[in-house]
Amino acid sequence: MTAPTQAGFSTAQVHGGFTQESAGARITPIYLTNGFLFDSFEEARDRFSGDADGFFYSRYGNPTVAAVERKLAGLEGGVDALAVASGQAALSIAFLTLLSAGDHVVSASSIYEGTRGLLTDDFSRFGIDATFVADPSDPAALRAALTDRTRVVFVESIPNPRNDVPDFALMAEIAHEAGAALLVDNTLATPYLLRPIEHGADVVVHSTSKYLSGHGSSLGGVVIDAGTLPEFGQRARELAGRLGPTLSAFNAFLLAQGMETLSLRMREHSHNALAVAAWLRDRPEVASVHYCGLEGDAGYDLAQRYLPRGQGAVLLVTLHGGLEAARSVVNRVQLFSHMTHLGDVRSLIMHPASTTHTHVEPADLAARGIGPGTLRLSVGIEDIGDLTADLDQALTAPYSIHSS
Ligand SMILES: *Cc1c(COP(=O)(O)O)cnc(C)c1O
Repeated sequence: MTAPTQAGFSTAQVHGGFTQESAGARITPIYLTNGFLFDSFEEARDRFSGDADGFFYSRYGNPTVAAVERKLAGLEGGVDALAVASGQAALSIAFLTLLSAGDHVVSASSIYEGTRGLLTDDFSRFGIDATFVADPSDPAALRAALTDRTRVVFVESIPNPRNDVPDFALMAEIAHEAGAALLVDNTLATPYLLRPIEHGADVVVHSTSKYLSGHGSSLGGVVIDAGTLPEFGQRARELAGRLGPTLSAFNAFLLAQGMETLSLRMREHSHNALAVAAWLRDRPEVASVHYCGLEGDAGYDLAQRYLPRGQGAVLLVTLHGGLEAARSVVNRVQLFSHMTHLGDVRSLIMHPASTTHTHVEPADLAARGIGPGTLRLSVGIEDIGDLTADLDQALTAPYSIHSS
């Protein structure tokens, strides 16, 4: 009993990927086992050679993990999915499958700091270099960054934290003209809001730790193969088996459970975020809000085109009072959790300039929309009135510019 092939998204998120195992469990069980028994000498030989289907060692495949991989591939419209231990593992496997020494990456500037570090500090040691483009939806700027060594064009679907949604179809066309693959990190949109493969992406990655899992309890990542690059899926699976960032069956189970309510949560997250963003924009303490669902935002037009179902729930708000105002809000919120994470049912708050972006030069920070008074919010699914009440008491409390 799997999802009908033409099933709607919400049906597929509940039923997709399921295959009945021997005891008839309705939910795919947690197969916590390292290895799988072979019935015979011949069966072991054939599984190792690839002549027989079946599992042999959990680093190369596991039934709980395989079920969630089928669900993810179906929701993204890919031919296959490879689940791994974290979003960073998924990005590492995707890049290292597509690249060799001497190759070049063109990336949007507006990306997750961990991914930027991989490109600038780690892959550079293996002869892979990267060029960053501030506006990857500007065809001239994107074309100018491409070289005959460029193999990957990389972008995030709702770039964290600036919300500068890119023009995916345009980027796919320009990347493909140059013989490069388009790799999209779709973590902040999820396949409910955006399916990058429909706009030309060749490979899609997620940190499933965020909205897909949804409850802030388990790390995970996934690489989804659109089927447009010969051998990509098989090579990625072999590389993951050798490098070893295996997703635990336990985390795969939590991910599968979370995904069953993805559409419900994403509708609620997007609805709440738009309300909170609009409320913040009208506040006297607020200098600016970056949220692509807000009319007048730099990302608004592309968000209306690519994200009509909702624009996600991570936003940036900059306070007139600068660092001291930001410090005061962080220390006074009660409902918002102060932590580095996003895509959780709980609302979260962070001060990027002193934490995730602490090593970034001030001029670069400003280019990314982050100043000393900037806060990042990940809006959860609580009641909107409770969220704005919490922000209201935190914003209006007096603060001293001499506090430390
Ligand atoms: C969190 C995040 C990652 C990294 O994922 P982990 O699961 O924490 O390794 C990568 N990309 C984006 C856009 C993220 O938000």
